[in-house]
Amino acid sequence: MMQKLPHTKIIATIGPSSWNEEVLKEMIENGMQMARINASFADFAELERVSTLLRKLSSRVTIMLDTKGHKIRVTGFEHERELKEGERIILIPETSAISTDNTIQITYPNLHKFVNKNTKILIDDGNLILNVVDTKAKEVHCVVKAGGILKTRKTVNVPGVHLDFPDLSQKDIDDIKYAVEHNFDYISASFIRDRNDVEAVKTVMGKTDTKLIAKIEDGEGVSNIDEIIPLVDGIMIARGDMGVELPLEEVPIKQKIIIQKCRIAGKLVIVATQMLESMKESPRPTRAEVSDVANAVMDGTDAMMLSAETSTGKYPIDAVRVMATVAKESEKVLKSQPISGRTSASEETDVLCKTVVALIEELNLKGIIVISQSGTTVRSLTRHRLKVPIWNISNNPKLIRQMDIYRGVTGIYIKQFNTDRDTMASKAAEVVYSQGLLAIDDKIAIICGSSIKRKNLNSILEIAQVKDLLE
Ligand code: PEP
Repeated sequence: MMQKLPHTKIIATIGPSSWNEEVLKEMIENGMQMARINASFADFAELERVSTLLRKLSSRVTIMLDTKGHKIRVTGFEHERELKEGERIILIPETSAISTDNTIQITYPNLHKFVNKNTKILIDDGNLILNVVDTKAKEVHCVVKAGGILKTRKTVNVPGVHLDFPDLSQKDIDDIKYAVEHNFDYISASFIRDRNDVEAVKTVMGKTDTKLIAKIEDGEGVSNIDEIIPLVDGIMIARGDMGVELPLEEVPIKQKIIIQKCRIAGKLVIVATQMLESMKESPRPTRAEVSDVANAVMDGTDAMMLSAETSTGKYPIDAVRVMATVAKESEKVLKSQPISGRTSASEETDVLCKTVVALIEELNLKGIIVISQSGTTVRSLTRHRLKVPIWNISNNPKLIRQMDIYRGVTGIYIKQFNTDRDTMASKAAEVVYSQGLLAIDDKIAIICGSSIKRKNLNSILEIAQVKDLLE
């Protein structure tokens, strides 16, 4: 009997707390569907070691490489220093020859070109705030508005200002190529702001079956979301940086809007960051964190992501377990959520999939089997956030892993994938039944491509009882 996992999928970031075999095994057993390896903290040797270990443990876990992106950091000093409110400090490029007590080096050389008097600069995720008073040559003169302790390598954000980063750093180019060459299932590209940023990543990816997720982390990405969604396979709502780049109170609203837009388009959507933050140090989450997870499920996300909780936190397995438990409980009260609009499937398939939502209620269907060539029908179906499972039958292991991260979707690998629909449906029903996920009298729907003139774009929908499908 298979453990019942939530429909909403769990992504865990792998790091020192979780990259040993025993911990990873338990995280997978407790519901981790996708492992995220953050290239900001991993070189090729690390990528190789962790991805090989994951594959050894499971052929089914989905693997994603998350690019470093263009973060600006303070640099050039070892010991922490205090910035006092009212103090004058000067930000200078790290390449600058002159460095004094009141200068702080940053890793971005062009800041002076894009800031004006009163531009706000946030350091360390907004814990320290500077106001620009003047620029002189490459120097940015600031006054400290909110002081505190400054440690080296902390982040620098300039909300609302478009900075001229190169399309991609050499590290990002190398990491993207590595992920494609090593058959990673997904790449999540940091700080996607517009169409050009997407195109730059796609150019490096080349022709590949590795899928692309755009991380939306700032005001530009949010404003350009409608041009970004059609170009990518999915969106990550990267609330960590978004909460620094945008007023914090706007983040929950952006989360709801972006989830809705992705559902309409049938694109994957992930809610990320600080979902169970206190579990870095504590075996139990706060009430507010549990509410955050429950609300993301109710907002209709496909997946939720754990970051430091599982990469450097003390309780990586518990964090996955808690997330799965909260998701399962929240899903119990949810009905299917039909949605309109068009995906990349044909109009006929979109309409047919929407019809299934009503059939589930009226005929008390217990699940949907989709015999799938490309995942298009599954994407059109899952966006309605069905209250019953979708079984995605395929002979393509990579496609199964990629589709397994969508809400409510579980892949079933069938090697002898042929065009005989009845045999395929029987085989699939047998697998699900033998796992204890269906009873003999249950009714299910089967969707597959039509065989008329081999026009796979057309779909057939059939309702059958499990007992009639078993051979
Ligand atoms: C985020 O900012 O929320 C995020 C997921 O990005 P990263 O962890 O790469 O900073």
